[in-house]
Formats: sequence, C-alpha cells, structure tokens
Amino acid sequence: MPLADAIRTIPDYPKKGILFRDITTLLGDAKAFRKAVDELVQPWAGTKIDKVAGMEARGFILGGAVAHQLSAGFIPIRKKGKLPHKTVSVSYALEYGEDQMEMHEDAVNGPERVILVDDLIATGGTAEGAVKLLRKQGADVVAAVFVIDLPDLGGAKKIEALGVPVRTLVAFE
Ligand code: 5GP
Repeated sequence: MPLADAIRTIPDYPKKGILFRDITTLLGDAKAFRKAVDELVQPWAGTKIDKVAGMEARGFILGGAVAHQLSAGFIPIRKKGKLPHKTVSVSYALEYGEDQMEMHEDAVNGPERVILVDDLIATGGTAEGAVKLLRKQGADVVAAVFVIDLPDLGGAKKIEALGVPVRTLVAFE
C-alpha cells in the first residue's frame, strides 16, 4: 500500500479551512510505520550519524524510531519551558506571530552529525528554528527528513537554502 494511503485527512482541523494530515493512522499500521522509517533513513543507512533531533510532539515518535534504526542518540526539541535542565532557545515563525523552541544546552557535543526529523513540513518555520538551534550548539545538520511535504508552502526549499538537504516521502498539493 502506498504510504499516502495510510495517512488520514481531517477537514477543518484545527480550524475551518485547514486540511489536517493525520499520521496516527500511519503510526498504527505496523507495515506503514516500518516502511516510513526505513525510507526516511535509507540514504544514511551504514553512515555515521551521531544524533537524531525530533520536534515536539510527532517528531518524537518518528525520531525515536529513526534514531534506533541508525544507532544514533536522540535530542528532543521542545516548546519553551518543558525541558528540566539548562536550555538554549530560538524564536521561530508561526502562521501568525512567533514562538520559542528549546533544547538542552548539552544535547550536542561539538560538531556532531545530526539528522532532524518531523512528521510534516509546511512553511518550514519550525524546521528552520530547529536548524538554527542545533547549529548554535555546533551541530553539523546533515539532513532534515519528513514523512509529508506540502510543497505549495515552500518549506523544503527554505531548508535547502540553509544548506540542509531535505528528504520527504509523500507530497500533498
Ligand atoms: P511549518 O513550521 O513547516 O509551517 O509547520 C510544520 C509543523 O506544523 C510541524 O511540526 C507539523 O507537525 C505541524 N503541522 C502543520 N500542519 C500539519 C498537518 O496538516 N498535519 C500534521 N500532522 N502536522 C502539521
């Protein structure tokens, strides 16, 4: 079954006019979940990746599986105020306004090779913030990977313009 068929679309969520791409159906389908993780990591299988960084909250689910598959560590990137130890933070663009995301200041040790993971890239504002945060601590951000791309919103191009190759598996116009 194509991966796109395992993703459910919810109209008018979280507000009217939005088509929300719901990956819980993909996560609940053992074959689709494995296929998505295998395809996300495929270009880096057998290469040295030190850590995988995942964005709260769906990036944690996929990122944990990706990290395990690559024998890498995992870095949680969270919304402000959620992490218990000392943090570094950046502001990032939301549809309306901005917010802050954080990670622990000791999450990256020097120029480690890091892959960023999230479920979906839309405008790229979230991923751009995460790349900045990781680079602030000296990480070499080797790639950013997403199950879903919304190419009309230009996020993947924005991240590639930062010098980070992007891999996506399913595009929805
Ligand atoms: P961006 O910052 O690229 O505009 O938005 C991407 C972020 O919003 C990701 O963290 C992603 O999880 C979330 N997001 C936005 N729209 C959707 C959607 O339709 N489905 C899912 N699963 N996440 C979305």
